[in-house]
Amino acid sequence: MDDNPLLDLSGLPRFGEIRPEHVQPAVERLLAENRAALADLLAAPEPPSFTRLVLTLERLGHRLARVWSPVSHLNGVASSPALREAYNHCLPLLSEYTTELGQNQALCSAMQHIERTDTTLDASQRMLVAQALRDFRLAGVDLPPERQQRFAQLMQELSMLQATFEQNVLDATDSWRHHATRTEEVAGLPESTLRRAAQAAQARGQDGWLFGLDAPTYVAVMTHADHRPLREHFYRGWVTRASDQRSDESALDNSRVIERILACRHEAAGLLGFDNYAELSLARKMAGSTAEVLEFLEALATRCRPQAARELAELEALAGGPLAAWDVGYWAEKLREQRFALSDEQLRPWFPVPRVLAGMFGIAERLYRLRVRRIDGVACWHPSVEYFAVEDGDGSSIGGFFVDLYARAGKRTGAWMDECVVRAALGEDVSHPVAYLVCNFTPPEDGQPSLLGHQDVVTLFHEFGHTLHHLLTRVDYPSLAGINGVPWDAVELPSQFFENYAWLDETLPLISGHHETGAPLPADLLGRLRASRAFHAGLQTLRQLEFALFDFRLHAGYEPAVGSRVDAVLAEVRNDMAVVSAPEWNRFAHSFSHIFGGGYAAGYYSYKWAEVLAADAFAAFEEAGAFHDETARRFRESILAVGGSRDAMEAFVAFRGRRPDASALLRQSGIAA
Ligand SMILES: [Zn+2]
Repeated sequence: MDDNPLLDLSGLPRFGEIRPEHVQPAVERLLAENRAALADLLAAPEPPSFTRLVLTLERLGHRLARVWSPVSHLNGVASSPALREAYNHCLPLLSEYTTELGQNQALCSAMQHIERTDTTLDASQRMLVAQALRDFRLAGVDLPPERQQRFAQLMQELSMLQATFEQNVLDATDSWRHHATRTEEVAGLPESTLRRAAQAAQARGQDGWLFGLDAPTYVAVMTHADHRPLREHFYRGWVTRASDQRSDESALDNSRVIERILACRHEAAGLLGFDNYAELSLARKMAGSTAEVLEFLEALATRCRPQAARELAELEALAGGPLAAWDVGYWAEKLREQRFALSDEQLRPWFPVPRVLAGMFGIAERLYRLRVRRIDGVACWHPSVEYFAVEDGDGSSIGGFFVDLYARAGKRTGAWMDECVVRAALGEDVSHPVAYLVCNFTPPEDGQPSLLGHQDVVTLFHEFGHTLHHLLTRVDYPSLAGINGVPWDAVELPSQFFENYAWLDETLPLISGHHETGAPLPADLLGRLRASRAFHAGLQTLRQLEFALFDFRLHAGYEPAVGSRVDAVLAEVRNDMAVVSAPEWNRFAHSFSHIFGGGYAAGYYSYKWAEVLAADAFAAFEEAGAFHDETARRFRESILAVGGSRDAMEAFVAFRGRRPDASALLRQSGIAA
C-alpha cells in the first residue's frame, strides 16, 4: 500500500509507475483519511479559527486533488479499459465525499462563525470564506435531510452520466473508419494526411487509405477534400457521433444520457430554489442574470448576422450554387487562398513545432520576465511528452508544465490545459503549480517535426494562456489559485488574450522558421496572414453564438413535463440566427462534450463573454505596445496573479481603469465597420 505511487506527493506524479490497480486503493485511503481529519476538526472543543478550519480544509482538498489529477488526466490522454473501469469506480466515491462535505452543517456553521467574528482577515481570506459559504449553499447545506439526500443522489448520477457521455463520444470517434481506394476520392488532401492514412491501411494489410475521425484528419477533409461525397461522408461521421443516427452502435447513443443529464440538472437546481439550471450556473459566474446572458448573445448575433450572410453569399458565388454544411469550410479555404494567396498547407512548413514552442516561450519570457526551460528525464505517459520548468525573473522557481501535443488513439480530442498541481502555501505545506498542456496535432513522422497550421498555432497559444494563468498565480490558497475560484465566464480571458500574440508583426517572426532552412516567414506571407485574421469572422462568430444560445436556452427553458427538446431547441436557435443550414440528421449535441461531459453547461456563452474582456484587455497593449513593460506588469499583477481571490470585474477594472467594452472585439473581428 505504501508503495502506491499515487500517494507519493513529494514531487511530480510518478507517471511511469501508475497502474489502474493503484487508483481505487489510493482514492479510498485518502477519502478515509480526509473524513477522519474532518471529524477531528469538528470534535475539538475550542471555537473554529481561520487557521485551523479553513487551512485544514484547503489542505485536505489540495491533497485529494493532487492524487486524483494524474488519474483523471491519464483517463483523458492514455485511456485503457482497466483504467477507465478504475476511474468510473471512483467517480461516485468522490461525488459522495464532495456532497457530504458541502452539506456538512457543522462545517458551514463554523465557517459562518469565522465570517462573523474574525476581523483580521485580509481580502483574499474574506473571498475564500465567502466562496466557501456560497458553495455550502449550492451543495444544499440548508435543505432538509431527505432533500439533501436526493441532491447527493443527483450529483452522483450526474458525475456518472457525464463520464458516460464523454466515453461514448471517445469510443464513437475511435471506432469510425473510412477506407478509400480511388485516387480521385482523396484528391486535394494534404500530403501528411494521406501518408498517415496510407500507413494505417498498410498496417492492416489493406491497400489505399484508411482514415480515422481524429480531429486533424476531419479538419483536413472538411477544408481540402475536392471530392464532395467524401466531405459529406466525414461530416456525417462527425456530427452523428454517439447518436441515434449510428444504428450499428446503438450502445454508444447519447440520446438517453442527454435526457437524464438535463433532467438531473433541472431537478438539482430546483432543490436549491432556482427556477432552472441556467440560474444555478450563473450563481458562480460574472454575468448577473439569465436575461443579461440572453441579451448579450442575441445582441452580438444581431450585429454579426448581416456580415455572416454576406460572407456566405460570397462563398456561394464562388462555388456557383448553394452550399451545404460540409461545403462551407472547403469553399472558405478556396476563397481565402484566392483573396490572400494563402493556404494553411502553404504556411505549415514555417511552423514546425520546436520553433513555435521556443518562440512562444520566448514571448512569455519577454512579456513577464520569466525563464522557461526543458527538463529531461521527467517521467511522462507517452514518449512524445515533454516537461518544462518556469523560473521568475529573479531566478526563483515558479512551477512547470507537461506538453502533450499529438493526436493518438485512446486520447480525448480537442485541446486543453488542466491542473496537475495547484499552487499552495499553507503553512509548511508549499506546492508549486504544475500544468498539463494538451493538444491533438498531427504527430511527427520519419524524423520530421510536426508542421502546424496557423490555426493550430493559435490553439497552442490559447492553451498556453491558460497555463500562464495557472502558473503565475500568487495566491496561497488552492481554492483561489490560478484558474480556481475564477468565474467561468472570466476564465477564458487569459487564454484568448494570449492568442493575440500568435498574430502580431513583431511576434510572427519569433514563432516561425522554415523547417528545412530555418528562414523566417517571408514578409509578404506574414502580411497576408495578418490580413486574413478577420476573414469570415462573421460566420465563425455566429457559429459560436449558435452553440452558446443552444446551450443556454436548453438549460434555461427546460421543463420536466416536456423533456429536453434538444432537436426543437436547436431548430429554433438555427431558425433565429443561423445562415448555414444544417441537415436534419445533424446530431452535434450528442458529442457536445463541453456542456454534457464537462463544466460548460449553461456556460458555453463564457467564451464570447470572456472574448470581450480579452479583446478589451489586449487593446491596452495595442495602445501601449505589445511588450510594453508596465502594461504587462499590470496585467500579470491585476489579472493573472490574483486568480479567484478578487472579484473578476474589480480585477478587470484594476487593469483597464474602466469596465469592459465590446467594441474592441468587434473592431478586432472587423465587424464594427
Ligand atoms: Zn480555453
